[in-house]
Amino acid sequence: MTSSATKTAGIQKPFIIPVFIPHAGCPHRCVFCSQEDITRQGGGPYPSEAVRARIDAFLKFKGPGRGEVQVSFYGGNFLGLEPAEILRLLAGADRFVRSGAVDGIRFSTRPDTITPDRLDLLSEFPVAVVELGAQSMDDGVLAEARRGHTAADTRAAVLRLKSRGLSVGLQMMAGLPGDTPEKTCGTAREIADLSPDFVRIYPTLVLKNSLLAAWHRQGRYAPLSLEDAVALVARLHAFFVRKGIPVIRMGLQASESLNDAGTVVAGPYHPAFGHLVYSRQFLSCASKLLENEAAGSSPVVIQVHPRNISRMRGLGNKNIEILKKMFHIDRIAVIPNPAVSMTAVRVNRTGDIYSGPFDK
Ligand code: SF4
Repeated sequence: MTSSATKTAGIQKPFIIPVFIPHAGCPHRCVFCSQEDITRQGGGPYPSEAVRARIDAFLKFKGPGRGEVQVSFYGGNFLGLEPAEILRLLAGADRFVRSGAVDGIRFSTRPDTITPDRLDLLSEFPVAVVELGAQSMDDGVLAEARRGHTAADTRAAVLRLKSRGLSVGLQMMAGLPGDTPEKTCGTAREIADLSPDFVRIYPTLVLKNSLLAAWHRQGRYAPLSLEDAVALVARLHAFFVRKGIPVIRMGLQASESLNDAGTVVAGPYHPAFGHLVYSRQFLSCASKLLENEAAGSSPVVIQVHPRNISRMRGLGNKNIEILKKMFHIDRIAVIPNPAVSMTAVRVNRTGDIYSGPFDK
């Protein structure tokens, strides 16, 4: 069943009701994964009553102006569950679709679960979107991460999902064991070739209860620094923007659990990781416009779309301080201008518009 959910992703975000099923249906643990650390929730069972109560509770928070409402089963390998369990969970969410409170269902699953049999189970339900954990398109990296599937599985899965008219989201990671920035960029290129409806990009974190934490203790794995991760994800994001593929998340969603000292043992975690990426891109755009300008006494006015003001300024106004130092500018004003596109920066001293994509 198709959905307009992801087609409208750039216009109106869907209102997603997450139902976490940590590690449900997982054939084993991938080295980087510890859903308990992310969700602070134990494993199943997931009684229908509890699922229903969670959906009801979330529906109360749906404000006006939100897009489609979707119930989403996250944190596990949905199609790796037993068929009866898949059908039970889908039926529980479907009740809300039938009542008109919810528009569709989505879930995340491994590429190697996208088999014709499993897809047949979905046919009676309003499944709108399937998110695949591709993580890497390099078979060596996938093997080191103990994913237990190959890049070919991901390619085949995307084709199968598309042939059933389903929207497809692909999740990729950066900084996995054995990965390099070049391999990560190769993964992005291969993912773009599959034309997913959207992507999510997650820098690898060392979570307390993951196997990676042991590898890190043993000196066998070193994560990306925050700075390197931001720079790399900024490149990936710019690449997907150029390809017209929406990036709907960069970095894990901040949560109380992740913010707790000790949950993230090491790695580029930041509660506003996506914001850091955008800020870096805006800094780069403004620098490009200013770099050929002679220092002058007149103030510089930077115009961006109203929704990009804080991205242009950077956390704690950091970008503005950097630009002032770099270009010996005394005063910089950042002003909102709805006429400037979401991926552009206008600097009035030069009169130029640097229109995206960011960071070529
Ligand atoms: S990454 Fe996915 S398949 Fe691997 S352990 Fe985590 S939830 Fe399971």
